[in-house]
Amino acid sequence: MDGSHITEGAANAPFYRPQGAECEIFAAAAARRLPVLLKGPTGCGKTRFVAAMAHQLGRPLFTVACHDDLSASDLIGRWLLKGGETVWVDGPLTRAVREGAICYLDEVVEARKDVTVVLHPLTDDRRILPIDRTGEELEAHPDFLLVASYNPGYQNILKTLKPSTRQRFVALEFGFPRPEHEIPVVARESGLPEDRVAPLVRLAGKLRAMKGQDLEEGVSTRLVIYCASLIAGGMATEAAIRAAMIEPLTDDPDVKAGLRDLVTAVF
Ligand code: ADP
Repeated sequence: MDGSHITEGAANAPFYRPQGAECEIFAAAAARRLPVLLKGPTGCGKTRFVAAMAHQLGRPLFTVACHDDLSASDLIGRWLLKGGETVWVDGPLTRAVREGAICYLDEVVEARKDVTVVLHPLTDDRRILPIDRTGEELEAHPDFLLVASYNPGYQNILKTLKPSTRQRFVALEFGFPRPEHEIPVVARESGLPEDRVAPLVRLAGKLRAMKGQDLEEGVSTRLVIYCASLIAGGMATEAAIRAAMIEPLTDDPDVKAGLRDLVTAVF
């Protein structure tokens, strides 16, 4: 299982609210065929951004959620036995290279090392994908675009991108949105009115300020949306906050108690 999925020209534009000039920078990079790296914590809008940009540029999107077992052949393809015959089946990266799609490698540092080797000839001006197993050397379609994301926040020294890899990308940094951006996003995604979302976003800001002390990661926009959705569905605010904004962050009883005090201070 390579964890990939394909979106061919979604009918409706995915909703994405820009935080800065990221849409213009992405479009300019795509026009010059430059690979793009999205850096930032989980749940802050990177995947949604790529979906919106793929739609804007009118290109299919092949998304691969990378994991520690993902190998180069999961991306490139493999020989498979079908009805007694051995046939070659392209992986998502090869399809994107052939068809002129965007290939989005989510959390690329999680993948096995042989994946980065494959990316190098694709991310310099050669733009080729050598397929050892078929002897093919694929020249990328002009519309092929490689996009990768990673979370520099994880405290794992072994899992950072090597300079030789990262210096092949135009990089965009994503952070948690400012409240004036996050409130309308959460309201729209959850259906909870903005005036009721505002205190949740204020709480999220306080939880994020605790990153590095008691919490490894700040609360994501995704979790704030979950919380607001539970409230919009009728759940009591306190229960929703506990389920969506406290329990997912920590298992430590003392830290949880501290977070609950913070909630009381905000509400
Ligand atoms: P990431 O890929 O960074 O882990 P996602 O793109 O999956 O995060 O974002 C999580 C959710 O947050 C999205 O499903 C979307 O509902 C919401 N979201 C975050 N930022 C934005 C934004 N700027 N515009 C619209 N939705 C956003």
